[in-house]
Amino acid sequence: MSKKKSEELQEDPLAWLESDDPFGLNEPIELVPFVCTECKQIDEVPAYIIGEFMVDKRPGEPVILECPYCNGEMFEAKKDPSE
Ligand SMILES: [Zn+2]
Repeated sequence: MSKKKSEELQEDPLAWLESDDPFGLNEPIELVPFVCTECKQIDEVPAYIIGEFMVDKRPGEPVILECPYCNGEMFEAKKDPSE
C-alpha cells in the first residue's frame, strides 16, 4: 500500500502542465474579465463562451452575463479605463 503511494509521489503532479497540449487544444484559452454591477466581483470568462452569447446580440450590443456570486448583471471589464 505504502509502496504504491511512494511511486505516485515520484511523479511530478504538475508535469501535465509542462506538456505541449495539456487540454488537447492547440490554442490557449483567452479569458475575458467580467465585472458584476452589484457585488463588483470579477469573473474571468472564456472568450468562446462570450462568442456564444454574442450570437443572439446585435453588433455593438454588450454581452451581459449572470453573476455567479449574486445573480446580478455582469459586464465586460474594460482593461483601459480611459476607453
Ligand atoms: Zn455579483
